[in-house]
Amino acid sequence: MADDTLWRAGVYPGRPVDVLTGPERQRLYRALRDTIDQALRDGGVHVLPLVPHRRPGGHCPRDGAELRRSKVGGRTTFWCPAHQS
Ligand SMILES: [Zn+2]
Repeated sequence: MADDTLWRAGVYPGRPVDVLTGPERQRLYRALRDTIDQALRDGGVHVLPLVPHRRPGGHCPRDGAELRRSKVGGRTTFWCPAHQS
């Protein structure tokens, strides 16, 4: 769910929240609400748009860029280098 939220908001997972701008925080808040709404509406987190692409060699469903995998805070995260910064 965290990966999906950051992907929707266009925020790179390694950025601490205290360096985000006001508009980025608003995008993140909206993305979190949308992610939770979709998971509740469509039957769980496994239906979120990024989930089937979260694997080595997977591609961003928005722009087709190859996803990157990183460790952030001890957990594996997948993110898009084309639209998450
Ligand atoms: Zn992308």
